[in-house]
Amino acid sequence: MNSVKHFNVLIIGAGPAGVGAAVALTKRGIKSIAIIERSDKIGGIPSFYKKKKGGVRTFVRWSRGGIPVFGEDYAQWLEKQLIKTKVQIELQSQVLNIDAKKKILTLVSPEEGEVNYSADAIVMACGSREETPAERGWIAGSRPVRVFYTKQLLRLLDGNHLLPMNNPLIIGSDVIGYAAAAKLKAAGASEAVIVDNCSRPKCSFFERLYFRIWSNPDYQGLSAKSIEVTGIKTASGVNLNGKNIPCDGIVICGELIPNSELALNGDIKVELHSRKPVVAKDYQLSEPGWFAAGNILGGFHGAEWCYFNGQRVARAVANYLS
Ligand SMILES: Cc1cc2nc3c(=O)[nH]c(=O)nc-3n(C[C@H](O)[C@H](O)[C@H](O)COP(=O)(O)OP(=O)(O)OC[C@H]3O[C@@H](n4cnc5c(N)ncnc54)[C@H](O)[C@@H]3O)c2cc1C
Repeated sequence: MNSVKHFNVLIIGAGPAGVGAAVALTKRGIKSIAIIERSDKIGGIPSFYKKKKGGVRTFVRWSRGGIPVFGEDYAQWLEKQLIKTKVQIELQSQVLNIDAKKKILTLVSPEEGEVNYSADAIVMACGSREETPAERGWIAGSRPVRVFYTKQLLRLLDGNHLLPMNNPLIIGSDVIGYAAAAKLKAAGASEAVIVDNCSRPKCSFFERLYFRIWSNPDYQGLSAKSIEVTGIKTASGVNLNGKNIPCDGIVICGELIPNSELALNGDIKVELHSRKPVVAKDYQLSEPGWFAAGNILGGFHGAEWCYFNGQRVARAVANYLS
């Protein structure tokens, strides 16, 4: 095995939860900390939501009286907080494997290739991803092109200034779906249709009211519990109980699943159905010295909740180390 660099604390993921944990651990006097992030920037999911004139602000700063901000601004604020600390930041470095018993991470870094880091405590702040159609189970039919996930849509809309569809249909009615409808409308698409397998949208009334500044999508809840995607080469619509709803692009949004694959592969206990890592007292996982913070804990949480959760986890880590 290559030589192993040792730290007091390692944090996997530089999204709101990982940055919250790093900042709070530094304030608690913990000296040698590294944060490892596979992407080339700090901020996690918020960094995908670019700032745009007339664009949609989808991240709420509860600590600033509930002001909605652009994800990019939120990510930049996180970056500033992190840079003020002496935390070692490893960007474009993906953790590939963990040895839970020895508390060793194997990662690939652009400068050093494959390296091993060890620590007295490790925080997993790897976030979550959206369920696939197969995982949702109720999305049937063909798999034509122009079916996107939120992150792909954001890369096209915000990253490349492309509008990938004019008549969008969105599968998933939580806040991510309504945010996508608003972003598409603000970018020039027509009003979206949102479908989900529940009679009322999952997005709260007040959140829907907020997104009405940009769009007022038509909601169609499913009474039959399945939806069929139609179209041979390109998505052309969906079939709901024999009724065809035409569209020229589909976005599958929401229904988050914890990114707990690393934990699972490293023999840390994970609930198989929900993929949540099993959490004992004080955010500790099944192996001593391992902790979880933010969206990896399961459920849907906004960025600010994850940032403050990272800080709570830091307190538990500091108690463990002392
Ligand atoms: C597609 C999507 C859209 C969302 N849209 C909104 C929205 O509009 N408004 C809102 O309030 N909330 C939204 N959310 C919720 C959002 O995830 C949270 O607000 C917040 O970003 C979660 O913070 P986090 O730090 O737990 O995870 P994330 O922000 O996901 O950060 C996790 C970080 O860990 C890194 N990482 C993961 N695995 C590894 C590894 N093996 N090695 C190295 N790095 C790794 C990732 O690259 C990422 O940067 C969305 C979530 C998703 C999945």
